[in-house]
Amino acid sequence: MRDCVFCRIIARESHADVEYEDDAVLAFKDIYPKAPIHLLIVPKRHIPSIMTMEGADAEILGRCFLAARAVGEAKGLAERGYRLRVNCGPDGGQVVYHVHVHFLAGGRVSGA
Ligand code: AMP
Ligand code: ZN
Repeated sequence: MRDCVFCRIIARESHADVEYEDDAVLAFKDIYPKAPIHLLIVPKRHIPSIMTMEGADAEILGRCFLAARAVGEAKGLAERGYRLRVNCGPDGGQVVYHVHVHFLAGGRVSGA
């Protein structure tokens, strides 16, 4: 998807501060962090939203959550924890239509 900002980051056509990568998933810093640690965990395959996900997408989305676990452990957060958030659709606050998991940590991450 050439007009997708996250696909361009995955293809290294746009810059991002990448913190984790495996064959299926990339995690990079959010450019407008809302917590001391704020990463976005994205599948390398373009899936627009949880609202359009299909059965075939289940494994790669599960891989995003495994990546969150790996990031949490690498950052020493396995005890204290972190917040994972997936915004879905306009009323859910989704702005970028390449599905992503917000990884928020570094102190108590409050809010709904
Ligand atoms: P959402 O509202 O759930 O769609 O979240 C989109 C997130 O992507 C926001 O927190 C933005 O700050 C972040 N974002 C948008 N463009 C970029 C980019 N080029 N690099 C890193 N983060 C981005
Ligand atoms: Zn994309």
